[in-house]
Amino acid sequence: MNNFFFIDISKNFFLILLIFFSYILPVFSETGVSVFMYHRFGEEKYPSTNVSEEQFLSHIDFVLNNEIKVIKLEELVETLDKNDEFYEKAIAFSVDDAFSSFYQFAWPVFRENNIPVTLFISTDIIDKNTKGYMTWEEVKNFIDEGGSVGQHTSSHLHMPLNSISEIKEDILKSHKSWIKNIGFIPELFAYPYGETSIDVINILREFNISHAFGQHSGVVSNFDNRYYLPRFSLNERFGEKSRFEFAVNSYSLDIENFLPVDMFITDNKKPIIEFSILNNLKGNSIDCFSNPGGELGKQELINITTDRVQIRLKEEYLTGRARLNCTTRVNDKWYWFGYQFLVK
Ligand SMILES: [Zn+2]
Repeated sequence: MNNFFFIDISKNFFLILLIFFSYILPVFSETGVSVFMYHRFGEEKYPSTNVSEEQFLSHIDFVLNNEIKVIKLEELVETLDKNDEFYEKAIAFSVDDAFSSFYQFAWPVFRENNIPVTLFISTDIIDKNTKGYMTWEEVKNFIDEGGSVGQHTSSHLHMPLNSISEIKEDILKSHKSWIKNIGFIPELFAYPYGETSIDVINILREFNISHAFGQHSGVVSNFDNRYYLPRFSLNERFGEKSRFEFAVNSYSLDIENFLPVDMFITDNKKPIIEFSILNNLKGNSIDCFSNPGGELGKQELINITTDRVQIRLKEEYLTGRARLNCTTRVNDKWYWFGYQFLVK
């Protein structure tokens, strides 16, 4: 459902290694949770939202062979709610849109290996019995067999581009469908296309939704906005085992007081991006990549104070989704912070 996600790690990996900065990393106490997002499995016609069966099985093999701790998204949210630290590096799996290929191919693999997974569902497409998607009967079986579900609106709309009343109507409609077909409304929420805004977040609050996931890369930690939690997207291009392993083993780069406040950019398309890096960075490098002008590249970073940096974009962002990824490496561990803007 989305086209351009990530920094291409393979392309920029050596660049990042080569460049040294004056920012210094602290001793990180928190490990964080790498949350993954899939869409389709073994549907090679849709490479931007698909992983091959081989790629998916290589991920599961890696998890099992290396005894990677996999937690439920519900457990992740509980830990955030309690303000507990994530003492042990863990990962979590999610799948968006409820394509049949998830139910037929991937779900049996998750189930047989006792690996928890949350399925985010837009209700309209299931209500319409759309070919290529799961049916409500299958969703029910999935839940009965231990699967967990989350909200993904009813019409899979670009939420920030709609009026407040349209968004509310859409969420209400999905709630009616959940009640009718499943008997409850799931607590967790994922934004279609990972797109949100301050207005959209305020609507979720009104609906008593307390956590929501985007589609920007990053590792979840206690410092994250509960309404904009990151997920690593996996598709054919970004689904190779090496990249999966990289994301599994990445840690959270903890950021606070991020500017601009709204992830929906409507006027200044060359915003000043600013944030504070928690902890005391010493001697290690941070590198930020973004795609102003449609071209992904390293952006200029300026130290405002010892722990606060400003990014000077080379150009204006184009209309659509814009990405920002900042990484740093300390003692052979990669720390990652990702963000997505929607530009009108
Ligand atoms: Zn979706």
